[in-house]
Amino acid sequence: MLPIPIQKTFTYSVTEDEANFLKKGMRVAVSFGKSKMYSALVLNIHQTKPTLYEAKEIHQILDEVPLVNELQLKHWQWISSYYLCSLGDVYRAALPSAFLLESESVINKNEEFSEDAILTDDEFLIFEALQHQSQLTIHQVIAILGKQKVMPIINSLIKKEAIIIKEEIYEQYKPKLVKYVRLHADYSSDDSLGKLLEELSRAKKQREAVLGYFQLSTSKKPIKAKDLEEKAKVSATILKSLVDKNIFEFYHIQTDRIQFNGDTNDLKVLNEFQEKALLEIKETFKEKDVTLLHGITSSGKTEVYTKLIQEVLDQGKQVVFLLPEIALTTQIITRLQFYFGEQISVFHSKYSMNERVEVWNNVLENKPKARIILGARSSIFLPFSNLGLIVVDEEHETSYKQFEPSPRYNARDSAIVLAKIHKAKILLGSATPSLESYFNAQQNKYGFVELNRRHGNVQLPKIELIDVKEKQRKKEMTGHFSDRLLKLIQEALDLKEQVILFQNRRGFSPVVECNTCGVSPECPNCDVSLTYHKFRHELRCHYCNYQRSMPNSCGACGSNTLDNKGFGTEQIELELTQLFPNHKIGRMDLDTTRGKYGYQKIIGAFEAKEIDVLVGTQMLSKGLDFENVTLVGIINADSMLNFPDFRAHERAYDMMVQVSGRSGRSKKQGNVAIQTYNPHHQILQQVSTTSYAEMYKEQLQERWQYKYPPYFRLIKITLKHKDYNKVDSGVNWLFKALYSSFGEHVLGPTAPAVSRVRNQYIKNIVIKIPPKQNLAQTKKQLQKIKNTFEAVKDFRPIRFITDVDAY
Ligand code: ADP
Ligand code: ZN
Ligand code: ZN
Repeated sequence: MLPIPIQKTFTYSVTEDEANFLKKGMRVAVSFGKSKMYSALVLNIHQTKPTLYEAKEIHQILDEVPLVNELQLKHWQWISSYYLCSLGDVYRAALPSAFLLESESVINKNEEFSEDAILTDDEFLIFEALQHQSQLTIHQVIAILGKQKVMPIINSLIKKEAIIIKEEIYEQYKPKLVKYVRLHADYSSDDSLGKLLEELSRAKKQREAVLGYFQLSTSKKPIKAKDLEEKAKVSATILKSLVDKNIFEFYHIQTDRIQFNGDTNDLKVLNEFQEKALLEIKETFKEKDVTLLHGITSSGKTEVYTKLIQEVLDQGKQVVFLLPEIALTTQIITRLQFYFGEQISVFHSKYSMNERVEVWNNVLENKPKARIILGARSSIFLPFSNLGLIVVDEEHETSYKQFEPSPRYNARDSAIVLAKIHKAKILLGSATPSLESYFNAQQNKYGFVELNRRHGNVQLPKIELIDVKEKQRKKEMTGHFSDRLLKLIQEALDLKEQVILFQNRRGFSPVVECNTCGVSPECPNCDVSLTYHKFRHELRCHYCNYQRSMPNSCGACGSNTLDNKGFGTEQIELELTQLFPNHKIGRMDLDTTRGKYGYQKIIGAFEAKEIDVLVGTQMLSKGLDFENVTLVGIINADSMLNFPDFRAHERAYDMMVQVSGRSGRSKKQGNVAIQTYNPHHQILQQVSTTSYAEMYKEQLQERWQYKYPPYFRLIKITLKHKDYNKVDSGVNWLFKALYSSFGEHVLGPTAPAVSRVRNQYIKNIVIKIPPKQNLAQTKKQLQKIKNTFEAVKDFRPIRFITDVDAY
């Protein structure tokens, strides 16, 4: 299996010895095409010659034990056939990229390389080449050395820290090494201390270092260089000079990067409702593999999960706890570590490659410290051998679906299949389940358990709808705030309570418009207006990240009447600082949370009550637990309702109920104020009474009527190319071909709302699959049509993207 988007697998030849050594799931370096080299995965060892080509020899074996197990391969095969993508795409997505060294990888000199490591001749050649050239590709390395088998040499250079793999592409795995110090063998005898101190009689600092060493060594534990520096109050240079004199030696011990230092605690005692839910879940698991837990916000679902997790751990099995990427904050990590301590490993994209490789290896070896994986969607690819339970928290979250690049999988659904492969159980949890999961529960396909009480019997917040149109008419608006919302904020602040304000848009104002001619500055690469960001006084494209400074005059008519329309988080923050000058206002959106610790900082500050009012986008709604928040305000509910997507209403409901759920979690009932132009909208009514069942019933009817999931399945096809006419003729051909196979259930072709992104024109076709139509057959037919399409020379350059369950 090669990590490339080709459906096929390939046969390479190995010697008999190699064949005896190799096992499925090991990596081998192979060449492919004219001159490319990849880390391929062994799928099968056999004696059947390929008929269409001559089998090439492998370059070498890269693993001593399999890196990927057969359960994984089975799972990947399912993903590949269900989501219509190549196995290679899954392979590439599954492995941390440090495991996928290939000829396109680029190496650089490590500027911090200390030249005392000894290099072999080959290694030295490469190292020297890097003195003259800032970077080398693996190809160039092959040319320099005049041989193909260069991977071990590169690996060894990496190990010796002489080179690094270019960071943007691959952050190479390197276990974190801690520097220790010990006495040179010459001084191991008993009288050594006296001899040493004599030798150092005139080097006061060095003497102190040696004395400090002897003091620390009484504990018989290895001595960290850092600890010695501290103990003896000497610098690193002093230690180095002692090493140069052959009195001390440095050595390294590998430590794991992600360490938990702290004690663990007993699980909380469940309240009676949680206890009942737990029993019911266990009961459903007797018959069903999947159970949906519908528990209102702050009902303590996490506590229920932890009990289940403990039981599975006691059986010696592994557990996966899936969360949407954005909800993977220190809050939940700390909370689970509080109980499970070192048995938890965290896996998500904000962690470095090194950290991810470490988790991979720990899971592969079924180490005690990787019994529970807390992670984002890609955790389902880890090398589990013995899964007992998967928990999918916030199962309704759309971020479980990967849209780009392929594999376009849904992690919740793929996790269900993974659980089946391991004969494990899977629990889906949410306060606002997705319509599909709730439907499956109603159909008795899943077990179903409800938890309808907030912990501590705190009531769900009081939700009030504020009619903005009415407020405007009565001149009771200040900026974007109604007098009612301002009053509620003031009351909360007076009581030293905290407030969350939700605005589903970042930036200052989404659109800048000329008051004279009405033209808005647009992105040169995409068909979309630029967004104004006040902080940097610039215009940005949220699709391609294009940015330019805010122009002084209109590009179309030249008059200086450019004006902000609409509003985003930044503007709300600004208005608040003017309205409440004595309070600290914070903002949480994509712009303020970049970097690994971005969220953490803001969440930490809010928890520490350094921020009184937090303004944010939907990332505020993801499972956060703040005890002092008693008011949540939604500045404008309408933008969520008027979204052209068949799930817009469902999602608006989820989002509003979830943000509302941040209010009044611990002591007293909280408040929620929703500003809207349409207070009578059925979704807002349902939010205000938290009537999930009513929302479900109504939405389900519409789904049936308009032929959408959960009744009909959707496959979306997207064509992209920089030449509009090419895409257009391609999409018309494709539509006809699909129509003759699937008839009226083919919709399109349509251009999406933003019909050009990064200079590529986009066209969509959607295939709806009725409940009785065979899914596998449909996909097969689609694949056939795709092959024919790609055989047309004119269409070949068009990107053809297939997205199964494209929502
Ligand atoms: P949910 O995930 O359902 O929104 P959480 O699990 O975050 O709810 O629980 C809400 C709060 O109540 C948390 O602060 C949690 O620690 C607390 N809590 C829940 N159950 C218990 C319990 N049985 N004993 C003590 N505290 C609890
Ligand atoms: Zn753009
Ligand atoms: Zn103008």
